[in-house]
Amino acid sequence: MVFVLRLNHRIFRDKRISTHCALVARAFGAEKVFYSGERDKKLEESVKKTANKWGGGFGIEYVRNWKSFVEGFPGKKIHLTMYGIPLPEKIREIRKEKNILVIVGGEKVPSEVYKLSDWNVSITLQPHSEVAALAVFLHEYFQGKEFRKKFKNAKVRVVPQERGKKVLDLGE
Ligand code: SAM
Repeated sequence: MVFVLRLNHRIFRDKRISTHCALVARAFGAEKVFYSGERDKKLEESVKKTANKWGGGFGIEYVRNWKSFVEGFPGKKIHLTMYGIPLPEKIREIRKEKNILVIVGGEKVPSEVYKLSDWNVSITLQPHSEVAALAVFLHEYFQGKEFRKKFKNAKVRVVPQERGKKVLDLGE
């Protein structure tokens, strides 16, 4: 099972980016996103609403103390950081692990995160975004399986089209 921890959420500045982390985590095959920083009920509601409509039972949970949460996580921890070892050098090793916590930072990442993580990996050595880093990591970890992922109990489903939009209403 793949879990994601988004560190140091700030309600005012990170509303969209934290929502996007959660949506990427869900769409690309993670089970649940945890977040620390400021508790944000609106963020939780919007992620739950999407998960309810589009299916799959994805969860979101606030963690007050990220450090004890990371220390107590029963699996390997992978911190995504531009300062880490390039992902292609580590992905085979990481894929052997079935229970992982993927950690993405916010504006400032405490130095303990680097020490508590089993791997610090980079998705290029250039600064970009937690959303992009998470998407690329999950794509590499699942090796494209996310393209075939089925979401149980969905109320709607997209029917792919060459042009235009088709969405099936599957009812309750
Ligand atoms: N300067 C910040 C710091 O203290 O690390 C970087 C903040 S960056 C906008 C937010 C998060 O995006 C980072 O903590 C990291 O998880 C992710 N990120 C950004 N660029 C990355 C890269 N090249 N490789 C892996 N993760 C990256």
